[in-house]
Amino acid sequence: MKIAFIGLGNMGGPMAMNLLKAGHTVSAFDLSAEARNRFATDGLPIAASAVATLEGAEVVVSMLPASAHVEGLYLGSDGQPGILEKIAPGTLVIDSSTIAAATSRKVAEAAAKRGVAVIDAPVSGGTGGAIAGTLTFMVGGSEADLERARPVLEKMGANIFHAGAAGAGQTAKICNNMLLGVLMIGTSEAIALGVANGLDPKVLSEIMRRSSGGNWALEKYNPLPGVMETAPASKNYAGGFGTDLMLKDLGLAQENAAAVRAATPLGGLARSLYAAHSLAGHGALDFSSVIKLVQKP
Ligand code: NAD
Repeated sequence: MKIAFIGLGNMGGPMAMNLLKAGHTVSAFDLSAEARNRFATDGLPIAASAVATLEGAEVVVSMLPASAHVEGLYLGSDGQPGILEKIAPGTLVIDSSTIAAATSRKVAEAAAKRGVAVIDAPVSGGTGGAIAGTLTFMVGGSEADLERARPVLEKMGANIFHAGAAGAGQTAKICNNMLLGVLMIGTSEAIALGVANGLDPKVLSEIMRRSSGGNWALEKYNPLPGVMETAPASKNYAGGFGTDLMLKDLGLAQENAAAVRAATPLGGLARSLYAAHSLAGHGALDFSSVIKLVQKP
């Protein structure tokens, strides 16, 4: 299959590499030269622009930071046209960015008028899952479009869920990330409390991992440096899932909660704590660095 892939960041780059390794013909682009060069070195074919990736593409995959980037890419911004008008009718678009459900629906509706199918397919599983091809996809869109996308999604992920109609994948994703944001703060507090009492953080983490406090952060993403070699915490919180991206997701969750009048007190508090952490200059660090808020200096 001929696939256009746009957005080669911490997640998109490894996802595009997995499509290439699976035998697809990939044409990729990122606005950042650094991102383009990183994956070009690994053999990923890079196009001159987002529009240039579309040449002969049957499927377009995008993996961008936030709603404004996705809307700008497909529908245009600042008087510049989007790429939607250059996408051939009959093409399938898979947007895996985590963005507002309303933006996903807006792009899908505009695309449908041109005979282009769009599914929202945000992911969970972190950069480790993106590299290993074991991501979880949460899909919003029609059953038929999901079935068209399945052979592509299967090369990047291990679990594929149909959450519902357009935008439903995004809603499932922000529910999950609101929980993850809260869990990471709770895990950080518990580890910091144990360390303040002189406990060995590795021993404490293992006790909690196998006890009723066990969770994904303790399994795969321990926030304290040195506990888990593969976690961003042990790599100066580089790569991984940025604090500002978590802040964006918690903002989306709060906007959504306000719209449906849901009570999300811990989600609201978590958003404020990540906002304070970002304001302290840690926005680009992995979100597990939020432990700095509760750690003894
Ligand atoms: P990132 O910031 O590392 O990468 C985003 C890339 O998009 C950047 O390289 C940027 O240059 C590029 N970009 C932005 N606008 C563009 C455009 N118009 N055309 C081409 N390229 C453009 O972000 P990431 O960590 O890869 O996350 C991507 C999305 O996936 C986000 O919505 C995030 O919330 C979500 N996500 C991230 C993780 C994670 O662990 N990092 C996990 C699940 C979901």
